[in-house]
Amino acid sequence: MKNIQEMEPTQANSQAAIVEEARTFVDKEVRPLVRKMEDEGTMPRELIDKMAQKGYLAASLPVSYGGLGLDAIHYGLFTEAFGKASVAARSLITVHTSLVSETLLRFGTKEQKETWLPRLARGEQIACFGLTEPDVGSDAKNIKTSWHEEDDYYVINGVKKWITFGDIADVFFIVAANQGKSSVFLVERAYEGVETRAIEGLMASRSTHLAEIHLRDVKVPKSHVIGRLNFGFEYVVSTALDNGRYSIAWAGVGIAQEGVDAMVSYSRTRSQFDQKLSSFQLIRGMIADAVTKVHAARALCLRAGEMRLAKEDEATIETTIAKYFASKVAVEVASDALQVHGANGFSNQYPVERLYREAKVLEIIEGSSQMQQEMISYYGLRHYFKRGYSI
Ligand SMILES: Cc1cc2nc3c(=O)[nH]c(=O)nc-3n(C[C@H](O)[C@H](O)[C@H](O)COP(=O)(O)OP(=O)(O)OC[C@H]3O[C@@H](n4cnc5c(N)ncnc54)[C@H](O)[C@@H]3O)c2cc1C
Repeated sequence: MKNIQEMEPTQANSQAAIVEEARTFVDKEVRPLVRKMEDEGTMPRELIDKMAQKGYLAASLPVSYGGLGLDAIHYGLFTEAFGKASVAARSLITVHTSLVSETLLRFGTKEQKETWLPRLARGEQIACFGLTEPDVGSDAKNIKTSWHEEDDYYVINGVKKWITFGDIADVFFIVAANQGKSSVFLVERAYEGVETRAIEGLMASRSTHLAEIHLRDVKVPKSHVIGRLNFGFEYVVSTALDNGRYSIAWAGVGIAQEGVDAMVSYSRTRSQFDQKLSSFQLIRGMIADAVTKVHAARALCLRAGEMRLAKEDEATIETTIAKYFASKVAVEVASDALQVHGANGFSNQYPVERLYREAKVLEIIEGSSQMQQEMISYYGLRHYFKRGYSI
């Protein structure tokens, strides 16, 4: 695989053109709906269809499966563009494309890929990823949802919780265990025993159709196992979460950049003490820190993207570092952006109120910040250990 510097100029230009067009799409089709989506707690089907028509539900997939063929770097920039404007549109891309479609592309059989990927690309079916349960989050290897074999089927029982787009998805990647070993199954909403229940009362992510998925004696055809039976975590889940983390890292950059845009524009418009806010050193300090953090977060994401593109061994840990840092930056910058807006920042008439709420979840999903710290410290303790170091 080529890295970005080795690409033909035409190849990189056409990818950049797709990202540029996506930015225009976001401004024209997504931004005007954001308030309405928040208020109504739903993402309109027409918007999902428009995204599908443009190929945006399969941006990172090969053209042969109906995708746009974006490489990791341009897919990251594409995700940032959606993440700047809308948690719903970006979340759909994260779960439907990054977690499910990309993982199916890697581990699906030829038949599974030919059956599902074009449908997912066309948006005929929406996909979600069901790992978390009411009593199991970070300790995901201890899931309670179970499967057992019965004639030609695998039978699944259990409850999944906090599943993004679970309330409207047609297909679910469900992680289930048998005698301590996990497997991943593609479950269709239409199967008997599947029920979804919308989750309400959320601080943010209100238009992402979060749901519980209840599975009672659900019979899944044997052909619907993704990857190897009993090796769900080792391959499919860890890959899906790695893909998801890459997406969330860019989502963090998107929220933080939107925060910078807002704080700069507001500070240059609002006056106090007969001066623009932007003339006060303490305000400029916040702007300087925010700009620096966003640039640093984007640089980490680009580095992770280059390593993913080149299929480097350490791409996964670099992605984890980018996700950890970018989600932290999103929270900090959104908070300072609100601060610069004063009372106006508290109002939903300004975008920073939404950014402040939306940023926080990035430190929880795809592995909380504490789980990322565990992984990064484990890597650091091995990688930077100097034998014979004396004190
Ligand atoms: C908006 C939203 C969307 C989501 N979408 C999905 C989805 O699509 N699919 C899905 O499967 N899940 C989804 N989730 C669930 C998400 O992945 C979990 O919330 C996350 O994994 C954390 O699990 P938990 O909430 O159960 O927290 P817990 O695991 O109970 O952790 C609680 C706190 O303790 C900390 N903690 C736990 N263990 C340790 C430890 N060993 N050391 C130090 N600290 C620790 C955690 O970092 C956290 O701060 C979503 C959640 C939200 C809020």
